[in-house]
Amino acid sequence: MSDCIFCKIVAGDIPCDKVYEDDLMIAIKDVAPAAPVHVLLIPKVHTENILTVDSKLCLHMLSKIKQIVDKLGIAEKGFRVVINTGDDGGQTVKHLHIHIIGGKVLGWPPC
Ligand code: AMP
Repeated sequence: MSDCIFCKIVAGDIPCDKVYEDDLMIAIKDVAPAAPVHVLLIPKVHTENILTVDSKLCLHMLSKIKQIVDKLGIAEKGFRVVINTGDDGGQTVKHLHIHIIGGKVLGWPPC
């Protein structure tokens, strides 16, 4: 989608700090991290959210979490996986992304 910031990042038109890439997705550092470690898993194809994503693509993205948190060094202590969805869910970028947040003890509830 031409006006989608994550499509522009996937296309290489906007710079990012990439920590993982394969044929279907990228993982990048969040530009405004909520914790010492904060990355976003982003599918290369534009799809709005968890309700619209192809289930195989969703499973592929989830299956890469272990590899990515191992690389980030947060697997042992733990982390949080968040998928904000829609306006009430706090989704500001309408291109599916999975937050991985960690590197400190996280509060709960998140709101
Ligand atoms: P959400 O509120 O769930 O839609 O999350 C969107 C996330 O994208 C926020 O945490 C933003 O900080 C992050 N973000 C927005 N623009 C960029 C960018 N250019 N590079 C990296 N992260 C971004």
